[in-house]
Amino acid sequence: MISVVVPSYNEQEVLPEFFRRLVAVLDGLNYSSEIVFVNDGSTDNTLAAMFQWRETDPRVAVIDLSRNYGKEIAMSAGLDYANGNAVIVIDADLQDPPELIPALIEQWEAGYDNVYAQRTERDGDTVVKKTTAHWFYRLIQRVSNVRIPEDTGDFRLLSRRAVDSINALREHHRFMKGLFSWIGYPSKAVPYRREPRGAGHSKWNYWRLWNFAIEGITSFSILPLKIATYVGLTTAVIAFIYAFLVIYKTLVYGDPVQGFPTLMVVILFLGGVQLMSLGIIGEYLGRMFDETKRRPLYFLNRYLPARNSSEKYGEQSGNMPARNAP
Ligand code: UDP
Ligand code: MG
Repeated sequence: MISVVVPSYNEQEVLPEFFRRLVAVLDGLNYSSEIVFVNDGSTDNTLAAMFQWRETDPRVAVIDLSRNYGKEIAMSAGLDYANGNAVIVIDADLQDPPELIPALIEQWEAGYDNVYAQRTERDGDTVVKKTTAHWFYRLIQRVSNVRIPEDTGDFRLLSRRAVDSINALREHHRFMKGLFSWIGYPSKAVPYRREPRGAGHSKWNYWRLWNFAIEGITSFSILPLKIATYVGLTTAVIAFIYAFLVIYKTLVYGDPVQGFPTLMVVILFLGGVQLMSLGIIGEYLGRMFDETKRRPLYFLNRYLPARNSSEKYGEQSGNMPARNAP
C-alpha cells in the first residue's frame, strides 16, 4: 500500500483541484492507497473539505491537529499515522505535481528507500533567492556531515523503514531536509519541474528563510560555537601583543595620557565579539531548553482513519499525544 501525506494549512482554494489530480494518479496505480490529509489548524474550510472527501472516498484519512504547528510537525504527524509500505510526502498547493508519483514509485520498486523529487528549474524564484539558496546548501554541506541534495524540498517517497527511522527522531526543531538525509539508506533523485503555486499564497518570506537557515545549521552542526572559540582566542592573542606594546611604550616614553580613540575601539570591539559569542551560545541554549522539556510534538484534535483500512487504532479524538511518542 502507498500512503500519501498531505500537510495543509488554509488551502481551500487549491485543495479540490489537488485532490482531483491526486485521485486520478492513484487510480492508475497497481497499489492500494491511502491519502492522509493533515489539517494544520486551518482557519478556512480546509478541514470541512477533508471530512467531505472522507465520506465519498474510502482511501481518505484525516488528521486534525489541535492548532497550527507548522509544516514540519504537520508532516511528522502524517508520517506517524501513515500505514503504507511506502509513504509519499507532497504539498497541497500543487507545486509538487502528483503526476510524478508513479516515477517515484518506480525507483522505490528498484530498491531505493529515499526517492526525492529534485527541481530542474525554479521558475517562480528571484535571482536573490536562487543564489542565497545555493550558498546555503554549500554552507550546510561544509559545516555538517549530512549531505543535503540541492534543489530538493520535502516532496519525496520514503520506504517503510525510512519512515520508521524518521519517526524515531522526536526532536522538536525539525529541520526535515536534514533529517531525511541524516537517516541515510539508498537515495535517488527524480527530476521534475516545479510549478508556481496553484492558488493562495506561500507562507514564506525572507525573515522566515533566514531563521530556517539558522535552524538547519544549529540542528546539524556546532561549528558556530567553535568559530566563537577561535574568534575569542585570536582576539586574546592580539590583545596580549597589544598589551606588551602599550607597556613598552609607557616604560620607554613615559605616560602622557592619550589614546581615547584606541580605548573606545578596543572596548567596542571586545564588547561586540563577546555579545556575538553569547548570542551564538544563546541560539544553542534556547534549542536545548526546547528539547529538554520533552513535550509531545503535537496534539490531535481528531483522527479519522481511512474507511477501507484495518486501522487498529480506530477513530480517536481528544488530546492524544503522537502515536510514536516515546
Ligand atoms: N503548511 C502547513 N502548515 C503551515 C504552513 C504550511 O501544513 O504552517 C503546508 C501548506 O499547506 C502546503 C505546504 O505546507 O501544503 C507548503 O507550504 P507553502 O506552499 O506555504 O510553502 P512553500 O511551497 O512556499 O515552501
Ligand atoms: Mg508552496
